[in-house]
Amino acid sequence: MPSSALPTTRRPGDHLHDDLAISATGLRKSYGDKRVLDGIDLRIPTGSVFALLGPNGAGKTTAVKILSTLVAADPGSGPVRVGGHDLAADPQAVRAAIGVTGQFSAVDNLITGEENMLLMADLHHLSRREGRRVTAELLERFDLVDAAKRPAGGYSGGMKRRLDIAMTLVGDPRIIFLDEPTTGLDPRSRHNMWGVVRELVADGVTVFLTTQYLEEADELADRIAVLSNGTIAAEGSADELKRIVPGGHVRLRFAAPAAYRTAALALADVQRNDETLTLQIPSDGSQRELRSLLDWLDAAGVEADELTVHTPDLDDVFFALTGGDTRGTTGTPAATGTGARRTDPDQQKETAR
Ligand code: ADP
Repeated sequence: MPSSALPTTRRPGDHLHDDLAISATGLRKSYGDKRVLDGIDLRIPTGSVFALLGPNGAGKTTAVKILSTLVAADPGSGPVRVGGHDLAADPQAVRAAIGVTGQFSAVDNLITGEENMLLMADLHHLSRREGRRVTAELLERFDLVDAAKRPAGGYSGGMKRRLDIAMTLVGDPRIIFLDEPTTGLDPRSRHNMWGVVRELVADGVTVFLTTQYLEEADELADRIAVLSNGTIAAEGSADELKRIVPGGHVRLRFAAPAAYRTAALALADVQRNDETLTLQIPSDGSQRELRSLLDWLDAAGVEADELTVHTPDLDDVFFALTGGDTRGTTGTPAATGTGARRTDPDQQKETAR
């Protein structure tokens, strides 16, 4: 039946959801007396990447399991819509619209990568010919052609994740849940995985990503929600989140001592460095604040040699919101590698308070 024959299934207010791939209100889940999700709201636009960021045990996987119909939310939770379908009323339709890959992949280690793919094609009722076509295309796209005839048990972590995502794509889902897709991967495989996510987005797929890596959320996500104590402690773009913590500043360096002195006396709350003729001014880095500073410099006829804006990074945000140190939140060796936390000494210095 064409969808146009179903106008009566639309309810008042449905148009508000039209451009949302996922929406949820007051999502709750407890295990025994442990409250894991304590009323979270989500509004994820179609075609975007959303990152749910939180330390181990924060409830990220629980959220993915609920949204992907694997686990029921607690009674009293608000409505959830995924891919245009009501989760409670039509879980089958939700399942048909989504793909899920978790840390514990669906890959069968005993059979080859190609056989895993063909099995998935069978599950999706593709014809033999179509299954072979899709399999060949995806193995190529995920750089698995050379390994295709080898048992998947011998694949590296990164290859297994790629195979897992390729298997998910056999069903051509428009919404994909990636639950900690790079946990435990080495930096190179992590970067490869980021490339995969970007390709998915370029194809118009909506990606719901969970991660404990701030840098990953920063790299990939249009919007980031920080999960802490069962609630979303903050949500926004990486830049918006960085602006909510103090520590941002503008630094002006002057070539002329007279210009330096004029600015140092006139500007409020400046930190001076008389040796390098540098001033540091607290700022949220917003366009409005920068414009007013530049306007003042122009009006005063003071010329700065160099202007740099320093905003706090997501580590600062995470620390401020969760009260925890992100360095202690992960248990995998990869978490101590380059991907987990920026280790650039300048960055550390800039964000230190
Ligand atoms: P994350 O994905 O952020 O690491 P999870 O959603 O896996 O967190 O887990 C959140 C909390 O819920 C943890 O304390 C975990 O032990 C608990 N939990 C998850 N699944 C179950 C379950 N099936 N039964 C009991 N407790 C669970």
